[in-house]
Amino acid sequence: MRIRFWGVRGSFVAAGADFVRYGGNTPCVEITEDDHRVILDLGSGAIGLGKALLASGAEKRRLTVLLSHTHMDHIMGFPFFAPAFHPKAQIDIYGPRGAGRKIDHVLDESLNPDYSPLYSLKNLNAKLEFHNLGEEPFQLQDFEVTAAALPHGRIDSYGFRIRGATGVVTYLTDVGYSDGSPAPAALELARDADLVIHDATFGPEDWRGHEKWGHASWEHALAVAERAGAKKLALFHHAPDRTDDEVDRFVALARDAAPKGLAVIGAMEGEAGVVEI
Ligand SMILES: [Zn+2]
Repeated sequence: MRIRFWGVRGSFVAAGADFVRYGGNTPCVEITEDDHRVILDLGSGAIGLGKALLASGAEKRRLTVLLSHTHMDHIMGFPFFAPAFHPKAQIDIYGPRGAGRKIDHVLDESLNPDYSPLYSLKNLNAKLEFHNLGEEPFQLQDFEVTAAALPHGRIDSYGFRIRGATGVVTYLTDVGYSDGSPAPAALELARDADLVIHDATFGPEDWRGHEKWGHASWEHALAVAERAGAKKLALFHHAPDRTDDEVDRFVALARDAAPKGLAVIGAMEGEAGVVEI
């Protein structure tokens, strides 16, 4: 399995010289294995991914997107995701009910004339199919996907466990543990994973006072990966004001604290950040 990060930044896009190495786009992750592909979240990173997909002709294959939740930083790339405008593209979007409305309703509303010149999903040329996430494992091409709802402020954010032929990737973003200990559902999704991608918005000291924000510290991310017996941890959803040097520092601290056998990296946009398992 090949994991490429197209956006690793949380909350809003970070621009400027301090954010060039890890990248400033908001969450979008592409997992591929042979001819199969699954896309996690449609943050601003999805804009670059969409262009790359069109350039490679991949839009002619059915595309699958899993949305953790629909806060703006995770869907802001959707109105600019080039395959959505391609008449031959077919896109399956799996999303949660968030605050209670179906995923197609929420995305349709995000395009209404107050927010976007697109007006409505009807103006996208691709064939879109929407699916509401549940917690029963399901099959996507050759991937087996398990989803679980985790608390994220007033709504849930879905975590995903994606099993391919060569390994398991777990995606846990916009999750927080208000009592400081990892949620059992997060540990279950991460069990023996080859790669855990985990929210690391905070350091342990600045997490204090933000316990209910629905975000984690690098220490929580490490606790999940360690207790679950994972092989590699990618710190993800870097805070928008966290400079490259500060992300380096989080990675170094987490590496020092990690047990033998658990590798730690900072999720990084582009080819330089690709992980193969
Ligand atoms: Zn977010």
